[in-house]
Amino acid sequence: MDYEAVIGLEVHIELDTQTKIFCGCRNAFGAEPNTNVCPVCLGYPGSLPVMNREAVRKTVMAGLMCGCEIASYCKWDRKNYYYPDMPKNYQISQYDLPLCLGGGVPISGIGFSGEPLTERTIGLTRIHLEEDVAKSTHLGKFSGVDFNRAGVPLMEIVSDPDMHSADEAYAYLVALKQAMEYAGVSACDMEKGQMRCDVNISVRPVGETKLGTKIEIKNLNSFRAVHRSLLYEIERQVDELTEGGKLYQETRRWDDAAGITTVMRSKEHAHDYRYFPDPDLMPVEVSPEWLGEIRAVLPETPTARRARFVAAYGVTPYDAHVLILEKATADYFEAAAKGRQNPKLVANWVQTELLGALAKGGHTLADSPVSPEALGELVGLIEANTISGKIAKDVFAEMLATGKPAPAIVKEKGLQQVTDSGAIEGLVDAAIAANPKPVEEYKAGNPKAIQFLVGQVMKASRGKANPQMVVDLLRQRLDG
Ligand SMILES: [Zn+2]
Repeated sequence: MDYEAVIGLEVHIELDTQTKIFCGCRNAFGAEPNTNVCPVCLGYPGSLPVMNREAVRKTVMAGLMCGCEIASYCKWDRKNYYYPDMPKNYQISQYDLPLCLGGGVPISGIGFSGEPLTERTIGLTRIHLEEDVAKSTHLGKFSGVDFNRAGVPLMEIVSDPDMHSADEAYAYLVALKQAMEYAGVSACDMEKGQMRCDVNISVRPVGETKLGTKIEIKNLNSFRAVHRSLLYEIERQVDELTEGGKLYQETRRWDDAAGITTVMRSKEHAHDYRYFPDPDLMPVEVSPEWLGEIRAVLPETPTARRARFVAAYGVTPYDAHVLILEKATADYFEAAAKGRQNPKLVANWVQTELLGALAKGGHTLADSPVSPEALGELVGLIEANTISGKIAKDVFAEMLATGKPAPAIVKEKGLQQVTDSGAIEGLVDAAIAANPKPVEEYKAGNPKAIQFLVGQVMKASRGKANPQMVVDLLRQRLDG
């Protein structure tokens, strides 16, 4: 029997706000433990929460970016549970009236396994807003709790059970992260816990419409871990069913080192949390005026930007795909291409030379020694035939090392392209005189033999001769 996997993802993303969601404490990663705290986020009895409007605004922004419907009215609910990461014994969340409903995240391109993906949109069920809980660290017999994270605004983004392979889940995460970066709501750094992901996975015989037994996977610390855990779990579940076994609804823990999942606990149900509306907080109303204001400043979506790059700059759809993957790259490219006649050339430079060199030097675009304007200026010198593409690579290396602008380096080192035909003619004559064999071959009807002579002239000019002029002059001499 053939089986298909049905996968849904629950992604938590911390919002990049100045302060926490229900108090004035700073929302900052990496501070000394328990320094950004107050009675509200420590859960002292009698302290009262006050909603941070910016957290709601950013969640609406995220929802609009994914084409969600934004609720005009929603409320806060208490999710009751007992654990040291939340001393008031409930987390403020949203239960039956989330802020955003529906929408979706488009996926396309090549999957993580190297196979092309079917271009489609993964549906979203909802996005709701809640408070993050404290972070516990377990050291031997003891545990530490850091409340700096408690009360950080956290979006929970729930996808429909709409994905059918590990590759689709991976692509969804990449696209979702990209949308959030473009919306400017979070940096989504998984290492800092700003983006966390739980997986729901079941399998069923192909053709069956009822869902199989749902299993949740936790402890997934990278997109790669999500991909690997899904490959493992799909195989495990299919094997179990094929051998006549039974699956149980449970939560399993991914062990990244061993590459397996193990049972954590049998699955709790929503009613275990005894949700009820929080009496300390007013419901949230998103007025049409406010929604209009947010919509008016909504950034371009990654998909729209990709289409615009193809139309406006003439780059290929593939190049556009690569350029928009990270917002920083897309922004850099646009700044560098400003005023250039040949944006495709700029795209090539960004993708091949710049990104390669930065990765090699341990830099990111944010601390690139070459600014987009400086790279644009370098490409301008190629466009104007002041230097060849080959010389430009040397100039670029110098720019990276010294931070000097391209025109200064070209001038200082005398790298301007030689377009004076008199000077090139001298080199052409010398090359012809010194290399009788290729000359003979060319004259005997082998047009490729000219390449060797072009190379000799370029070498003699130290790469500075205009290559087209060299070819033209050689042809003139040899054909004449
Ligand atoms: Zn606080």
